[in-house]
Amino acid sequence: MLTSELTMDLIDTHAHLFWESYQNDLDQVIQRSLEAGITEVINVGVDVNLSKVAANLTSDKIKFYSTIGIHPHEAIKYLSDESIHIDIAILEEIYRLNPQKVIAVGECGLDYLFNKDYNGHNSYKDYREKQKKLFQAQIDLAKKLNLPLLVHCRDDRSRNPSSSEAWDENLEMIKNHYGILHCYSGLMATTKKAIDSNFLISFAGNITYPKNEYLKETVKMLPLEKIALETDCPFLAPQSIRGQRNEPSSVKEVAQTVAEIKGISVEDVAEQTTKNVEKILRLRSG
Ligand SMILES: [Zn+2]
Repeated sequence: MLTSELTMDLIDTHAHLFWESYQNDLDQVIQRSLEAGITEVINVGVDVNLSKVAANLTSDKIKFYSTIGIHPHEAIKYLSDESIHIDIAILEEIYRLNPQKVIAVGECGLDYLFNKDYNGHNSYKDYREKQKKLFQAQIDLAKKLNLPLLVHCRDDRSRNPSSSEAWDENLEMIKNHYGILHCYSGLMATTKKAIDSNFLISFAGNITYPKNEYLKETVKMLPLEKIALETDCPFLAPQSIRGQRNEPSSVKEVAQTVAEIKGISVEDVAEQTTKNVEKILRLRSG
């Protein structure tokens, strides 16, 4: 048992270890991650400042990468196109200062679930348009720097359970690029399109939740070559520690869930998903 655990090589493709909640025990968090077979962690930026913090986060025990990105919820801050372009230029600068460490643009995308506060926008529609502008600017940056995209996307299914606008519009916007669809939640018609895209489909702890049967069906129909694993920590703790702070060691539980759904070994899941991610993100290439 111990030997097989030690041979596993898992990547957490989406973590936020710079979050305040890790301030006091990051060393232990990293130690538990290593014990669970996680050898690489990608710390994902959600705004300009945290992209900088992510790029500066170091560990001598585990391999850290980071990303530069502005989360769609941040769209409320940008009241002019110029203000978007100023921040995109800062993201580019963060990349140029850390070209070995910064390996993708994101998390960026469309999030139509957040509709409480439009902060100066005239309507929900306006706000969605602003999200698209912010996203497009980051797609353009990814193309300019030839970096993969790490995409965040969410539909509002509270009013309409079959809503897939955000995912469908998102796939249309990124169709000429490549990267990872983080915390995938598209419905089956969207999944069929996502399979044909140049993006890996990444699953987090929410595939372990009993209510998310449809995501288990998605995992079942996807080829293993199309799958990536993540935690989105400190968020989205898997079922076994639900409600608590999440951490990269939980990637193992996500891998085990994928293995159970597919009826294969967790080692096979680890090996193939790690290969998928290293290829698309060009890790260890330089
Ligand atoms: Zn995230």
